[in-house]
Amino acid sequence: MLEVRHLDVWYGAAQALFDVSLQVGGGELVVLQGLNGAGKSTLLQAIMGMSPRAAGAISYQNQSIERWEPYRRALAGLGYVAEGRRLFTGLTVRENLRLAVRGDVRAREARALQLFPALATMLDRPSGRMSGGEQQMLAIARTLMTGPTLLLLDEPCEGIAPLLVEAIAQALLALKREGVTFLVAEQNRMLAAHADRILTLVAGQLRER
Ligand code: ATP
Repeated sequence: MLEVRHLDVWYGAAQALFDVSLQVGGGELVVLQGLNGAGKSTLLQAIMGMSPRAAGAISYQNQSIERWEPYRRALAGLGYVAEGRRLFTGLTVRENLRLAVRGDVRAREARALQLFPALATMLDRPSGRMSGGEQQMLAIARTLMTGPTLLLLDEPCEGIAPLLVEAIAQALLALKREGVTFLVAEQNRMLAAHADRILTLVAGQLRER
């Protein structure tokens, strides 16, 4: 489904990823682990088309996407949730959700709220007045409004209370049962117990175990 071959990424003259190759099969949940600065965020951003300079091949559902702009990758089914959530904090929960929608608004919103029922109780609240965990749920729910088939999640559970981590894990597993594919970067191995496979980045190079 997703295949990355011989990916190199640079920031200016500094190389951050070295000859990274990986595959994620349809419906798989793959966890990408590694220390701070190992290149996890860089890899997700490169898959999404957001790197300043990258070389290598990336294909999704048998189409070469490495030359595509990020919006086109999103249209093809890639959904990306950045580290740190990046919500529009002045907008309400509902506004954040509707901003991103593609397709049937009501159906998508109903599904997102079914997965994250806590959000349904705070639809009119500005997202800046939610806890970190609630904001993370909203960031994921907002990406779901585009109907992605592959979710690229950057540290979805970092700094979040254990109860909400469990709620997020359950929502992701429900999506996985529907066939959604996941590549999840995380340092703290919170979702690793649910992973089909774990990949490890060490100083910009991939190790599989
Ligand atoms: P973290 O969990 O701390 O985000 P990470 O594994 O996601 O770590 P990256 O953020 O991808 O790691 O960083 C990989 C390397 O690229 C690091 O050496 C980092 O300093 C460098 N880097 C990341 N972003 C930039 C940038 N915008 N400009 C220059 N160098 C960068």
